[in-house]
Amino acid sequence: MARGWVITQLELDSMGKKYLARHHAANVVEGAHAQTSEELQGLLHLIKTEHLSRGGYSSLLDESNSSIFAKNSSIEALSDIIKAMSSATGDTMKEGKAAIQELVERAQEMQRVKSELEEYKRLANIDPLTGLWNRRAFDEALTGIYNDKRNVMYHALLIADIDHFKKYNDTYGHSVGDLVLKVVAAVMQSSLGGDTSIARTGGEEFAIILHDTSLEAAMETSERIRRKIESSPFRKNRSGQDFGRITMSFGLCMATDATNAEDLYYKADRALYAAKNLSRNCVKQYDPGMDAEFEKNWALYKS
Ligand code: GH3
Ligand code: MG
Ligand code: MG
Repeated sequence: MARGWVITQLELDSMGKKYLARHHAANVVEGAHAQTSEELQGLLHLIKTEHLSRGGYSSLLDESNSSIFAKNSSIEALSDIIKAMSSATGDTMKEGKAAIQELVERAQEMQRVKSELEEYKRLANIDPLTGLWNRRAFDEALTGIYNDKRNVMYHALLIADIDHFKKYNDTYGHSVGDLVLKVVAAVMQSSLGGDTSIARTGGEEFAIILHDTSLEAAMETSERIRRKIESSPFRKNRSGQDFGRITMSFGLCMATDATNAEDLYYKADRALYAAKNLSRNCVKQYDPGMDAEFEKNWALYKS
């Protein structure tokens, strides 16, 4: 669980961006985008210097040039431009075979850069163990909730943490623990259905945005996941070796009970802390009394 005295992923991310900017995934993506734009600029230059002038074609090139360097032009937009240019080029470039050859090569290079860019984008959002979103992607989605104030009332955040997972690892080994994390991810995903915003946000902690939900429906969904996990056997397919059962504790907070994404995460985490303190293997909904309880326990812990 993210506790007040532990450095958060968000803080780590911002330190990473500040001090390791060159290694940050987002920079790789921006770099690839810049490279793509440069390729296109070269391509335009090439075509123009071939003096292939036909009125419409020339203005297409001018239009393409300004679109490419328009701020925030997406990779899809760049692709569209390339398509339009290629088709116009086919009509116009009857001569200049060498230029056409270069055009083809540059288009292939563009395609390669585009594929790399898409792969970087995908990897930057994924937890490699479970295939779920990572914390970065999840935080973006959570922030999105508060971008449209009318939407806020229909969302809830659920944080789930495996109970006594350290003991589980100690008993069955870390690699069995890893498999369990994968199975837990799959069970949660299947209980929630296709289009869900679900992430592994830390070691054995998961977070879910429940969309289009009331408090009652959110509680029901949380309970359903809790029971499903509790009743899932963990067994090796071939040998049938039994790896026991696991349970999870859940903290729930409605988006309307918080002022922004960070506050929402903090409050759902308080509710999770209360669930752990109560009995584990249960769901607790955030209420403001939990803050005082947490401060009291924290003071006892420090003394
Ligand atoms: P609690 O019920 O209070 O949550 O207890 P806990 O033991 O689950 O929590 P604690 O935070 O003390 O320990 C979390 C453990 O999760 C520590 C580590 O062994 C395990 N863990 C974290 N990440 C991974 C991972 O990627 N793979 C495996 N196998 N274990 C992990
Ligand atoms: Mg934990
Ligand atoms: Mg745990």
